[in-house]
Amino acid sequence: MKRKAISFYSKFHCIGSKCPSNCCQNWVIRIDDETHKHMMREAFPKNLKYRIFTVNEAGGFHHIRTIAGKCPYLRAGLCSFQWNHRMDLMPQICQVYPRRVVSYGSEAEISLELSCIHAAELFLETEGRLTYEEVEDDTIIMWEQGNQDPSFLTFLQESRERMLDYLWEDSHGSLVERQEALYDYVLSIHRFIVRDQIENAAQVKCKPRDKGAGETFFYPISFLNQILLQDVSFAESSKKNPTLHHLIDLYIKHAGKLYEDEAEEVFKIWYQEMITAYPKLEDTYLKYFSYVLQQIYTESYEDYHVLRKMLEALWFVDVWKLLDTVSYQVEGKAQNKTKELDPGNQSDSLVDEELSDSYSTNWADTSEEAKRLAAVERGFRHRLRLHDIFLERARQEILS
Ligand code: SF4
Repeated sequence: MKRKAISFYSKFHCIGSKCPSNCCQNWVIRIDDETHKHMMREAFPKNLKYRIFTVNEAGGFHHIRTIAGKCPYLRAGLCSFQWNHRMDLMPQICQVYPRRVVSYGSEAEISLELSCIHAAELFLETEGRLTYEEVEDDTIIMWEQGNQDPSFLTFLQESRERMLDYLWEDSHGSLVERQEALYDYVLSIHRFIVRDQIENAAQVKCKPRDKGAGETFFYPISFLNQILLQDVSFAESSKKNPTLHHLIDLYIKHAGKLYEDEAEEVFKIWYQEMITAYPKLEDTYLKYFSYVLQQIYTESYEDYHVLRKMLEALWFVDVWKLLDTVSYQVEGKAQNKTKELDPGNQSDSLVDEELSDSYSTNWADTSEEAKRLAAVERGFRHRLRLHDIFLERARQEILS
């Protein structure tokens, strides 16, 4: 099978015990049937400990019973199976993560999940447009997109390249203007696809809106607000995703007070302030949008639902931007001020008194940005139940 990997893939190695946010916690860690049989047969015959640590759910799959959210096999930041050189006894998802291998018939694409903080750092450090390059690799394929329509796959790959070419052209305006153009493009091709008119879809071009509305976010703030306040379990995130919990907490305290009709304007100002202080961030969000499209757009090979993938990609970027914007207002801006002014003089900033006024790291450091990105990826990309809720909301409020 031909395999292609995203450009920074080869740089990744798990940093294990040095990782500030080890992934062996706060997930449901599934044990695939094959590994489970293998474990039972070879590693743990009649082993009570193993039986205590695994659970067979009503849905029929086994997963590891975590203790205080952590995998009980975690030892000094590394998996016990790794310590014992028995990687083959690790559940497949643990062997593979954060590598993401998706196969489409005779070829597969490999990228990295940015919910891994080290992968997120590498992503942020890699400049410019990322590409898939042919590689020799034997990572287990965890996702198979089945369809017997190779011409549709070719169409999707060409359509994705067309979008990325448009996205990365500097003369095409702000990030949101480019996103609007791509959304309109995908909406047009979606209409042809549902009528089984792929030839017509292939003729559609990306083009700017006649009159962009000059938005800062693709989705209205009120729409993003509903998802953050109503659909994400704030209580649950405190243990499972402390960084996301902290970001949503900042959002509730500082943006939750805004009225709907003033929120758009306020966020426009806040976002502009952040971009003025850190101009490269807009490029980072563009790179992220591009990366998400590279990862998920061709997954519509199976269900032909290109519009869903576009809506999701736009949503992930907006959520990250929104939470970054609030975080900058409360933490980044305060940090800049403490550098410039008397630390006591913060009267016009949104400084949260509970927050520490001495910061050991810079708000915009790659490691800090990676923390926020990984938290958003973990909290939104990996919460499939949330995707359905989001899509239903988008259907009612964006598409209607
Ligand atoms: S989050 Fe990434 S770097 Fe950290 S332990 Fe997991 S795979 Fe390794």
